Amino acid sequence: MAEPFSLPRLPYAESALAPTISAQTIGFHYGKHHKTYVDTLNELVAGTEFADQSLEDIIKATAGNADKAQIFNNAGQVWNHNFYWHCLAPKGGGKPTGALEDKLSTNFGGFDKFKKEFAEAAVAQFGSGWAWLVSDNGTLKVVKTSNAESPLIKGQTPLLTIDVWEHAYYLDYQNKRPDYVKAVIEKLLNWNFVAENLGKR
Ligand code: FE
Repeated sequence: MAEPFSLPRLPYAESALAPTISAQTIGFHYGKHHKTYVDTLNELVAGTEFADQSLEDIIKATAGNADKAQIFNNAGQVWNHNFYWHCLAPKGGGKPTGALEDKLSTNFGGFDKFKKEFAEAAVAQFGSGWAWLVSDNGTLKVVKTSNAESPLIKGQTPLLTIDVWEHAYYLDYQNKRPDYVKAVIEKLLNWNFVAENLGKR
């Protein structure tokens, strides 16, 4: 029987984000870490009620349940990474336009203020985790989550994320997370994807 979850194709070549994120980092991050979350989740859900559920349903059903922590962690990490790769683009960065720009101005007081808040959240997240731009009942907010936690649990719609687990940057930036965060924001963020997510909300 086919396994319920598979590793989605990267939307670009492994070398396409260099030098901001090296092909070596993507090779390990996508090819090893992300793939392992998918493989482990498939093993964990085999023969259970979760085998034919969506990732979102599994995340919501297992959140906060200590007995299901392994399933939650692997499902969360699969979802988060599936989403993260699309938040980056080889010729990304710059500024959003249109409705997204207006919304960021309304909710944060301008694009530069949003960028500052997002970068601060990414740098301040203690230990492994994620910084996010979410829509919370129509209001855009910056939030951070630990480990495999997801804004989906709180009913928020993710629009953008940055992975701040050390595996996302250590080969390229070592301990300098702020340098990784700044470079990703300036050079790689895929504002077209963020705008699509805002439109679907
Ligand atoms: Fe990661």
